[in-house]
Amino acid sequence: MTIKKTFITEELDRLKREGLYTNIPVIAGPQGAWVEIEGKKYLSCCSNNYLGFCNDPALIEAVKKYVDKWGVGPGAVRTIAGTLDLHLELEKKLAEFKGTEAAMVVQSGFCANLAAIPPLVSKGDLIFSDELNHASIIDGCRLSRAEIVRFKHADPENLDAQLAKYDNVNCHKLVISDGVFSMDGDIAPLPALVEVAEKHGAMIMVDDAHGEGVLGRGGRGIVDHFNLHGRVDVEVGTLSKAFGVVGGFVAGDAELVDYIRQKARPNLFSSAMTVPDIGANLAALEELSRSEDRVKRLWENGRYLKKGLKDMGFNIGHSETPITPVIIGEATEAKKFSARLFEEGVFAGAITFPTVPMGTARIRVMVSAAHTKEDLNFALQKFQLVGEEMKIISSSR
Ligand code: PMP
Repeated sequence: MTIKKTFITEELDRLKREGLYTNIPVIAGPQGAWVEIEGKKYLSCCSNNYLGFCNDPALIEAVKKYVDKWGVGPGAVRTIAGTLDLHLELEKKLAEFKGTEAAMVVQSGFCANLAAIPPLVSKGDLIFSDELNHASIIDGCRLSRAEIVRFKHADPENLDAQLAKYDNVNCHKLVISDGVFSMDGDIAPLPALVEVAEKHGAMIMVDDAHGEGVLGRGGRGIVDHFNLHGRVDVEVGTLSKAFGVVGGFVAGDAELVDYIRQKARPNLFSSAMTVPDIGANLAALEELSRSEDRVKRLWENGRYLKKGLKDMGFNIGHSETPITPVIIGEATEAKKFSARLFEEGVFAGAITFPTVPMGTARIRVMVSAAHTKEDLNFALQKFQLVGEEMKIISSSR
């Protein structure tokens, strides 16, 4: 009997045959506006390094200082080995930044969704989830074993209708939406979602992964953007995008966070965030609280790039944030476009089905505050070159 693992070979073969196998470029040196791949410099247009913190001198200095004093590792799970005072400091400062009573940090944004959802709903309860919610929300929902009702993307009326069907059902109800949808850059209609959830007595949770450091005053996120402080029960966040580090958190009122700490399996059964991560995140928070310049530059850069691409005739969708999708259509065309950009020195991957709907394959351009005008002009020039070459836009000549 030697067949037990043949399915692995078969599946890998299929992925390769169908062009679905992911080859990951190897970056030598730090993430930044430009990255080095196989000895050549590329303009990076695909990282979530929104504010350029990945390689920021203030963060690097902070890490050295914290590591000198606290070492590197957390020892174990916090409930077993004890929590470092640094974890508590980061949580306090994050709560202040977000305008919530409390916050709990975990190892990543993905873990934060797995931490937040199952303690709030379980078998016999109901989750109302935007149909385009992120994979980590979907996995958190599945882990909870609650029934999942999907509502139409960014559609409070549809949510209202879905909730109304269960008005007579007495159970925990949780509405969940991404704050910013990462493939299109649109912002969830949170005020209307909150109203609908309140009307039906449901809790509401938002995953602010792409809103942190981007939306609201000084990047305080979607709740601040819409001035909904105190009306969103659970905020999930990531420290892996605009913060330029790694980590995630759950924020809300003190009792909710206390409860999540007691129940969340990523907190109870997985070791806590490391010292370098905490140190760098504390420094990013300090920089963010000190100045709004980076956030402003991010938005300026986003507007500049979008205008340039739109003027050339590209379909850039309806993004409301610096995320800029350049919609190409067929997956093979989008992959070819990305490969040509790469040859020209621009690193921007193609995003295809099933991550985005069939026929809407795209290059998702992620702008950063670290990009200069020259960088953006370089990107625009290359998009024009490849766009004309592939007849996606008409020739300017
Ligand atoms: N939620 C959303 C909406 C995301 O886009 C992501 C990252 N792609 C995550 C959660 C996961 O965050 P992290 O990378 O910190 O695990």
